[in-house]
Amino acid sequence: MESHGTTLAAPQILRDLNFFLDIPYHSYKCYDMASQERTRLLHERRKAVQRVGDVAETLRASLLERMTQCGKPGCKCMRGDKHGPAYYLTVSYAQGKTRQVYVGKARKRLAEAWIRNYHRVWEALEEISRINLELLRLKD
Ligand SMILES: [Zn+2]
Repeated sequence: MESHGTTLAAPQILRDLNFFLDIPYHSYKCYDMASQERTRLLHERRKAVQRVGDVAETLRASLLERMTQCGKPGCKCMRGDKHGPAYYLTVSYAQGKTRQVYVGKARKRLAEAWIRNYHRVWEALEEISRINLELLRLKD
């Protein structure tokens, strides 16, 4: 054992294997660390998967609040006392295109909840993706 220059902190079973197979303990140490890291990453991934949760009520959009002027002559809004707020969902698409959808006051909270859910799912997927990248980089 001492001839391999290994530390005495090695588990006895590995030191025994090391002795019989004459493989430097270093190899086991690397395997052991990769194995521990894999276990840790899989645990983190399970937690991230749980955070994905229910994906049904998700919405990729931003909520805009806007005060408006109706344009009727003599209306208070023309003197600065604007109507609103009115709520709009803004959805962006490729090539910088956006779409705005009016959302009534009654559905504002629902829209906000769906947007929050979207961000929760998206962040969890990003975390899972990051973990999987780390898993692929681990040695077998
Ligand atoms: Zn008005």
